Amino acid sequence: MYAPPVQRLITELSKLPGVGGRTAQRLAFHLLRGSDEDARALADAIREVKERIGLCEVCYNLADGPTCRICADERRDPELICVVEEPSDVISIERTHEFRGRYHVLGGALSPIDGIDPEDLKIAELYARVQAGGVREVVIATNPTTTGEATALQIAAGVRERLPGVAITRLAS
Ligand SMILES: [Zn+2]
Repeated sequence: MYAPPVQRLITELSKLPGVGGRTAQRLAFHLLRGSDEDARALADAIREVKERIGLCEVCYNLADGPTCRICADERRDPELICVVEEPSDVISIERTHEFRGRYHVLGGALSPIDGIDPEDLKIAELYARVQAGGVREVVIATNPTTTGEATALQIAAGVRERLPGVAITRLAS
């Protein structure tokens, strides 16, 4: 129906969460009507974020180097680890200015129905971090959803089994 480049743009846009076919079409035509400059700025921003941003090798938060800014910050308490599902959860907690420890980003929550098993998340990496020593408390701040609660239970049991001395708390959102 459309010229192949237009169809390609619509197809790519429709892969974004919450964007259906009709919205993808609307966005594509918005971009076509707009200036070359705006379209290029959007394309460059997408390219740059994919080239420069990766996952922190310690906590799996977003990072523009080997480690994220929080792991690189010596003032943050390394004995206190807050476990969250996504990098966006780190931002939410940071906004409260109440947590002074470090994070561990799982990359989602356990959901067998959706095929998300422990191996798909950074759970083994969390256990390894705790077992490496120097951790006093694990604060579990997964979402208050069915999958988030199931993940919290599994992690609490897993940490307790490996290191009974580490305190485990559940942070209510
Ligand atoms: Zn980090």
